[in-house]
Amino acid sequence: MSTSDGIEKKRYERPVIRKLEGGVPGKFGARAAMTPLTHIDGLSVSGLIEQFGSPLFVISERSIRSTFRKAQAAFTTRYPRVQFAWSYKTNYLDAVCKIYHQEGSWAEVVSGFEYEKALRNGVPGKKIIFNGPDKTMDDLSLAIRNDSLIHIDHLDELYMLGGLAENLGIRPKVAIRVNMDTGVYPMWDRFGFNYENGQAWDALNKIMRSGKLELVGLHTHIGTFMLSPSAYAMAAYKLADLAIGLQQRYNHTVKYIDMGGGFASRNTLKGSYLPGQDVNPGFDDFAEAITSTLLNASFVNNELPLLILETGRALVDEAGYLLGTVIANKRTSQGKRTTIIDIGVNLLFTAFWYDHKISPAQSFTEYTEETTLYGPLCMNIDVIRDSANLPLLNKGDHLVIHHTGAYNLTQWMQFITLRPKVVLIDQEGKPHVIRDNEHMETLTGLEHTPAHLTSFEL
Ligand SMILES: *Cc1c(COP(=O)(O)O)cnc(C)c1O
Repeated sequence: MSTSDGIEKKRYERPVIRKLEGGVPGKFGARAAMTPLTHIDGLSVSGLIEQFGSPLFVISERSIRSTFRKAQAAFTTRYPRVQFAWSYKTNYLDAVCKIYHQEGSWAEVVSGFEYEKALRNGVPGKKIIFNGPDKTMDDLSLAIRNDSLIHIDHLDELYMLGGLAENLGIRPKVAIRVNMDTGVYPMWDRFGFNYENGQAWDALNKIMRSGKLELVGLHTHIGTFMLSPSAYAMAAYKLADLAIGLQQRYNHTVKYIDMGGGFASRNTLKGSYLPGQDVNPGFDDFAEAITSTLLNASFVNNELPLLILETGRALVDEAGYLLGTVIANKRTSQGKRTTIIDIGVNLLFTAFWYDHKISPAQSFTEYTEETTLYGPLCMNIDVIRDSANLPLLNKGDHLVIHHTGAYNLTQWMQFITLRPKVVLIDQEGKPHVIRDNEHMETLTGLEHTPAHLTSFEL
């Protein structure tokens, strides 16, 4: 309704009485009033479901770019030379990768498949960082010929690279992955070479003495969903110490220090009292820990190495939404309210370790009740939230699961149904299907039935 002078007249709403949640926050924090999420980047949730189906993954390009710029600013305001490399395994849909490449990110890959995907996306070989424990001979020779940055995981790989270098007559550009005690346990010591017991220094000496490989960097990736910036300070200190050791012993300067990924996103880990959105450290906290350690380190001639970050989860989690529909409500034998939705744990792997934030997509009544949210799979483990204080959702209502952009679209599983569409909302608010839903032929096309099994009579 608008009046003739163009001023919008507010619609009348019946007043409601709401309990005031005052005073100090409890152990679960201050109780936030729940609001429906009816639109994502200007598009209505119900409209998106109508057009593209339910369930539906939605990714916000606006959110990806603004989060990336925040992260980049946190580092570049503190340190002169910073380079991000997009972690493909966190979300390797081409459209998503290309947003990061447009923002200036290199590619960080952990398998031959991901390596080829990065090449197909147009990333120059020398801007691909190749991590991971399983690089085949073919993978490595392709990476060497493309001048990529190969991060060595173990001695067998180091020797294989030495042999390939000789055969190809090329000096591969390498770094070693270093694992270390950062005060966070369990320690991730299965990847790379250990700092404390001297394995890392030993591997560096082998590389320097062989002369076959060009040592360009030092790498670590200390864990994932790390909540402690000080662990990164410790890791940066130990890598800087190795770099300084190389300068002193060989007069060799590494070009970069790569701190890997692992920053926590805004999600809430199961078992934590306070919402991750409020309490998890942000990019500024991690950046401060890492950059101040590097700036304080005594590099020879004060030459600062390039700082590489392979951040995945914290850059993309918030940009992902999973939209779904209520199938039914029922009560358990104990009388607890349960709601069955069309989103299973096969689509939302991260439901196993997060209490995902969930919003109804339409207005609701004031009443809330502890509810268990079940998925549609015929499996007892198909639980999206064990217990969430939710307004009553009715059959056919829509809901939105927040912060689903990281890992779900690479770890999702096809199980008893076909996987749904993924839609990207661009910065103008226009939706684009960036991955189609699967069809029967998507799966049966891969199958072969031996001749003797083609027919039967029942
Ligand atoms: C998975 C991975 C990353 C990204 O980790 P996030 O926790 O998603 O930030 C970066 N580097 C390496 C080597 C990885 O394996």
